[in-house]
Amino acid sequence: GDILIEATNIKKHFPLKRGWFEEKRAVRAVDGISFQIKKGETFGLVGESGCGKSTTGRLLNGLIPVDSGEITFKGKDLSKLSRKEWKKYRQKMQMVFQDPFASLSPRMKIKDILKEPLDIHFKQMNSKEKDTLVMNLLEKCGISEFHLNKYPHEFSGGQRQRIGIARALILQPDLIIADEPVSALDVSIQSQILNLMKDLQKEFDLTYLFISHDLSVVEHISDRVGVMYLGDLVEVATKEKIFTDPKHPYTQALLSSIPQMDPTVKREPIILSGEIPSADNPPTGCKFHTRCPFATDECKQKVPDKQNIDDDQMVACHLYKS
Ligand code: SF4
Ligand code: MG
Repeated sequence: GDILIEATNIKKHFPLKRGWFEEKRAVRAVDGISFQIKKGETFGLVGESGCGKSTTGRLLNGLIPVDSGEITFKGKDLSKLSRKEWKKYRQKMQMVFQDPFASLSPRMKIKDILKEPLDIHFKQMNSKEKDTLVMNLLEKCGISEFHLNKYPHEFSGGQRQRIGIARALILQPDLIIADEPVSALDVSIQSQILNLMKDLQKEFDLTYLFISHDLSVVEHISDRVGVMYLGDLVEVATKEKIFTDPKHPYTQALLSSIPQMDPTVKREPIILSGEIPSADNPPTGCKFHTRCPFATDECKQKVPDKQNIDDDQMVACHLYKS
């Protein structure tokens, strides 16, 4: 399919501040990653907390600027957008967060929370049209019209996330960046929300960047998956390949830590040694070498190249040198 959004070698380092001076060291949150998200697909971004997933999401939505590298949306470089184009981008790209309560104003009724973005972006629309749009969308998200005049605190966590999703959709975006959208919910509610997101994706032709530390959630919703470790993208592949034939030792280790549902897939458990190193002082060479059971001397010295071992599988590891 067509590429909707593309990141090329994007980097974001946060300088460490100690007291009144700035240190030379920096947290290398995103350390030169590249990926493409095709129109209509769900790209899952997975990895342990602190690996740079959320920073990647914030770079893509423009909340923070990249240090270097390029992000293009429909072929346009985000850093070169005019004010008007930028406003359009803000409409076409929406966020869904882990805690919908934090992003929903507690003193506003649900219908006003949803109407607010319309007042800003769709000025030509009259009040009645807005009400109809809000009502229909909430209904599609599983919130009945009887709740329109309620406040956020009157809803359960799952219902609030439905409202958060409805608000993200009200401006008819192309891309949704969802950062841990179901992590605060019970497992049974999680699958309801994931299924809702899938249904809405089909109906509204949406593209998702889905950020999660939870592999089973990512497996449920993604078409393709990127695995991050300490600011690097170490493997990108179709969901099928990631979950049945992972190549990178870190992907293999992540997978061996979740219960195996498919008995035909054999997985040797990989036990990671040691703690996750700090992103302000990452290991030399392959950043994973301090925990990797296959590490060699080369791994300690040389950063592995990103290699396309197939049309739809990239891996950054010395084990796969061509
Ligand atoms: Fe392990 Fe070396 Fe591959 Fe890094 S490059 S994942 S240390 S084998
Ligand atoms: Mg995060």
